[in-house]
Amino acid sequence: MSRFRRNPQQPHRTRPSRRALRDQQMLADALRDTALALNSTLDLDEVIDRILSHLAHIIPYDTADVLLIEGDTFRIMRSKGNRERGTEDWLHNLRIPLEAFGNLMLMLRTRRPLLIPDTHQAQEWKDFPFTEWIRSNLGAPIHIEEQPIGFITLNSAKPGSFTPEHAAHLEIFASHAAIALRNAQLYSQMEQRVRERTAELQFERNRLQVLLDATGEGIIYTEGLRIQYVNPALCHMTGYTADELIGRSVAIFRRTDSPPEEVKRLIAIREALRRDELWRDEFRLRAKDGREFDAGLTISLIGAPDERLLRAVTVMRDISQEKELYAQKARFVAHASHELRTPLTNLLTRLYLLRRKPEYLDEHLAVLEEVSGRMRLLVEDLLDLSRFERGTIVLRPEVLSVQDLLASVVNVQQHEAARKQIGITLSLPDRPLTVYADRERLIQVVTNLVTNAIHYTPVGGQVCVSAFAEVCDGGGCVGLSVEDTGIGIEAKHLPHLFQPFYRVTTGKEGTGLGLTIAKEIVDLHGGIIEVESAPGKGSRFTVRLPLMRVRESMATRE
Ligand code: ADP
Repeated sequence: MSRFRRNPQQPHRTRPSRRALRDQQMLADALRDTALALNSTLDLDEVIDRILSHLAHIIPYDTADVLLIEGDTFRIMRSKGNRERGTEDWLHNLRIPLEAFGNLMLMLRTRRPLLIPDTHQAQEWKDFPFTEWIRSNLGAPIHIEEQPIGFITLNSAKPGSFTPEHAAHLEIFASHAAIALRNAQLYSQMEQRVRERTAELQFERNRLQVLLDATGEGIIYTEGLRIQYVNPALCHMTGYTADELIGRSVAIFRRTDSPPEEVKRLIAIREALRRDELWRDEFRLRAKDGREFDAGLTISLIGAPDERLLRAVTVMRDISQEKELYAQKARFVAHASHELRTPLTNLLTRLYLLRRKPEYLDEHLAVLEEVSGRMRLLVEDLLDLSRFERGTIVLRPEVLSVQDLLASVVNVQQHEAARKQIGITLSLPDRPLTVYADRERLIQVVTNLVTNAIHYTPVGGQVCVSAFAEVCDGGGCVGLSVEDTGIGIEAKHLPHLFQPFYRVTTGKEGTGLGLTIAKEIVDLHGGIIEVESAPGKGSRFTVRLPLMRVRESMATRE
């Protein structure tokens, strides 16, 4: 008698067969391995290959394929066993219409695995040249978020190779394949996003680089006081290369003899930045070659004000020229007021005297006339100069004979020269010289040079006016020169001679604007004016006008 009595109410539990146990163990192993593959690699092909290999242990097959749906077609993404059958190359990347395969269409509809025990008996099976050998088939759809995206199909040359249990197992593998495909999809989407973002960042970076490179203002990025970045404009301004500056302290730009109050200003920068304020001021800095220059600095904080090392961007502008221009303008206004005040005082004095002694009317009137005439000249010169500065002077150029023009100026000045017993000569080439220029303006230039020559040459001296043609700057040009045997000019004055109100001999009459205006006119004609002189040796002023222009202008007129 058995020691155990089975309760007849209890369900009968059959012990699983050894084979079934082994199969279950193999299925569990295969699924675990597949899950491991899913977690350990993002290589889709590798995961799918592993799925197909494990499947072979659980469900014996001759060939297995993973098919991916692409619109109305599908293509074989991975397969096993086709190489042995010689069909792999043929099937590779082939896009096959879905509707040609009844079994696939059926699975799309039912969303369930499909078992075809005998292809010769199944209506939904249709033979194709590459499927003729198949006698039984098992397929399962692959879904991602309820959407069918492909299939796993297993084929066998023997009928009845697959069972419903196989179908259930295949469904589990299909869901693993779905995870692998989903991961790959997400990964490629992510990769695409990373690629796009990287391209965007690269584009931004390039754009920023172009901006920084092209900007005319110097830019420095500092952490603490250490330079981390400089743009080409800054290198140009300071004479250093980027390599010489990066990693160095900004103190490299400080003058060696910078005044003590500069330290206070440097501390003020730090305090302003700590208050998260933009700091703007001017500093006198030192370039690599020791040259000093005025710089306008704008410093802005880019990190948090409480960071230990302040991170800041400095925009540096070389304002030396601006400052010089400003000083020049201030000098100009001071000079102009001074030049006007002197004759005005003279005028007022004469009026006062006239009131007191009207009997000297004629004498006073003569002076009043002369003084007001000088004032008018000065005002006209000032107006002329301001027109040049504003660019409102319009040239009326025409083809002029240089010989005729010089002769007419000399003719007008002959009387004044004779009055001072100064000999005035003309030295002109036989070959006619022509220029394309504004007659009145060119006469103004030559007249100024000739009157100056007479003015600054003592009694008995000589003035020679000449013209010549020469090659200059790769082209031809016409030269006009006015030479005298007068008092001459010291070398130190020569660079300033064409500046407004610059006068060497203040004792003599004059406005100090004649040469400035002459230079403006010559510039406007595209020419140059130069001076050679030495004290006691006389002076030579030379104007060169480009011949090319003359020809071009004449050509366009013809
Ligand atoms: P000004 O009205 O004083 O002559 P200019 O601009 O024509 O003004 O000339 C500027 C200065 O250049 C003059 O004041 C004079 O000192 C100097 N200068 C010009 N021409 C001569 C010259 N031929 N010889 C010597 N000095 C000259």
